Amino acid sequence: MREVQLPNGQKVAALGQGTWRMGEVPSARAAEVRALRQGLDLGLTLIDTAEMYGEGGAEEVVAEAIAGRRDDVFLVSKVYPHNAGFDGALRACARSLKRLGTDRIDLYLLHWRGAYPLAETVRAFERLQADGKIRHWGVSNFDTDDMEELWDLAGGSACAANQVLYNVAVRGPEWDLMPKLKAKDVPLMAYSPVQQGSLRAGTALDAVAERHGVDAYAVALAWLLAHGGVIAIPKAVRPDHVMANAKALELRLSADDLALIDRDFPPPSQKEPLALN
Ligand code: NAP
Repeated sequence: MREVQLPNGQKVAALGQGTWRMGEVPSARAAEVRALRQGLDLGLTLIDTAEMYGEGGAEEVVAEAIAGRRDDVFLVSKVYPHNAGFDGALRACARSLKRLGTDRIDLYLLHWRGAYPLAETVRAFERLQADGKIRHWGVSNFDTDDMEELWDLAGGSACAANQVLYNVAVRGPEWDLMPKLKAKDVPLMAYSPVQQGSLRAGTALDAVAERHGVDAYAVALAWLLAHGGVIAIPKAVRPDHVMANAKALELRLSADDLALIDRDFPPPSQKEPLALN
């Protein structure tokens, strides 16, 4: 199993499952629950959700998918910035826990920066941690300057992950964000890891996929995992997509594969502002 270590030493699955766009349409729910269960069976044991997704609907889908196997799952959820004041975050977390049908969230993230001072959100996360409602806390959509501001705060160095848009076609974080996170042993959680299903066909991804007898999307995910300290959270409802993505767990790319991918998807040559979805 491919794993990534959190700053406190806990290991979590390097390949997880996203849930954005789940829980929005009742008729899709059974397929969404099935997909998440299929992913868990294949070792994709980290599930990423948020109070925002389907306005709570995705957390309810997750609850159904993890029923009876909560202890096998590393559960990530996120608080809206407008709920990230001290009291608001405590209440938002209580609502998420209820929808998720669990007594704890393994990693609770600030979804993006809002108007509340970071120090207040950190205080709320510390309280939630002390009360056993969350095990770790982290952030999302934080660029290098945001991380530095956070690390300068009292308690800020406890941040356990930063979830940002990162994939083979969007490599901006490699410039300075990734090295800074690595230096502090903070994993980068890569969202939209298959560029929302729009990775270009006919590129090096196809050539490398052919070499290994896998889908090009598995190559894109294995490429993320090859960096070390990166957790990828593809969202997939179609069973063939879940299956193809899980193949990334066994796929080891060679130096030659990586060089070929660099040719079509070059690394950044200067600082790029963090991309958002
Ligand atoms: P993504 O995972 O890159 O792409 C999802 C899309 O790709 C879906 O349409 C899916 O189709 C398709 N897909 C998945 N595997 C495929 C494969 N093997 N072959 C072809 N198509 C495939 O995009 P995302 O949902 O934006 O990002 C993943 C997760 O990251 C989200 O679900 C969410 O949990 C998180 N996220 C966080 C933020 C943030 O601000 N923190 C922002 C965006 C996303 P099907 O569903 O039809 O199978």
